[in-house]
Amino acid sequence: MKKRTYQIILLLLIIGIISIRLFYQKPNLYRKVDYLLGTYVEVAIYQKPKRARILADSTFNLMRKYEKILSSHIPNSEVYNINHSDRNSIKISSETSDLIRKSEEISKLTSGAFDITVGKICNRCDFVENFYPNQAEIKELLPYVDYRKIRVSNDSLYKESKGIEIDLGGIAKGYIIDKAIEFLRDEEIDKGFINVGGDMFLLDNNNPDKWKIGIQHPRDKGEIFATISVNNKSVVTSGDYERYFIKDGMRYHHIINPKTGMPANDLVSVTVIADKACLADALSTAVFVMGLENGLNLIDSIPDIDAFIIWEKNDKLNYKMSDGFDRYLIDVK
Ligand code: AMP
Ligand code: MG
Repeated sequence: MKKRTYQIILLLLIIGIISIRLFYQKPNLYRKVDYLLGTYVEVAIYQKPKRARILADSTFNLMRKYEKILSSHIPNSEVYNINHSDRNSIKISSETSDLIRKSEEISKLTSGAFDITVGKICNRCDFVENFYPNQAEIKELLPYVDYRKIRVSNDSLYKESKGIEIDLGGIAKGYIIDKAIEFLRDEEIDKGFINVGGDMFLLDNNNPDKWKIGIQHPRDKGEIFATISVNNKSVVTSGDYERYFIKDGMRYHHIINPKTGMPANDLVSVTVIADKACLADALSTAVFVMGLENGLNLIDSIPDIDAFIIWEKNDKLNYKMSDGFDRYLIDVK
């Protein structure tokens, strides 16, 4: 009898220890934040802590690898070398050529509103020192801004003029998010998200509810303008409040109309939802340049891509959505 009592107590203890272990191994939302791509990046995945840590670290390493190739600011990155080369033809990796090809497709789709050769102007701007080139300088720089003057063939980029510079800032974050999501999906992670300074890809949520995302108020930092809910989509916003300064009543910001060389001033915020972050990223920048009517017409002509557009008139914010955006919208403030 005594022996049996011991056996039962022992059994209960073992069951207790196992269930405590199981409890602690239950997949929770593991979150890791780090600074890269010029912003704060968060990788959040539902996974047991030990594996989650390893996978999040690998995801950050992967994103860093791409940043080192694609950033125009990192000396000796491929983009840096393209911009500083004194030759017309520069050897590039398959990743860079892949992204430049994708950029060219978006340029054609948007009649040149998206154009990575705005690098010639972007690289002269300094939003920390409040500097934007003056009209005389823009006139000199504009002949170098035309995506038709660069071409990718085999493993090289050909520039019609040596002075051409590129900037992948309007598409690279999305591209890198897609690469990171591909990696996580290959590792059978299907719940979580990646957030690169507000540009996101949402995998599934852990509960039946979808992820709730706030679209930032473009004139009131910290406020939410609208709330949406999505799963298995990318949500990317381009805004004139991200990098800017105001001089003589004019807002100088980082999204440039390639036709004029000046900041695009029709809209203040464009959020695009798409299956690929790369597409959402490039299209949010492009629609920002295209303006309300042309931008919305383009978005409405592409299946499964939606946009929420905000503009300002007489100090009042107005918004309009693409035809299919309703299915994501929870509320607008
Ligand atoms: P985003 O925040 O995605 O709209 O990207 C803005 C960044 O894209 C800028 O900081 C520039 O690096 C780059 N950019 C600005 N204007 C354009 C444009 N018209 N086409 C492509 N890239 C652009
Ligand atoms: Mg973009």
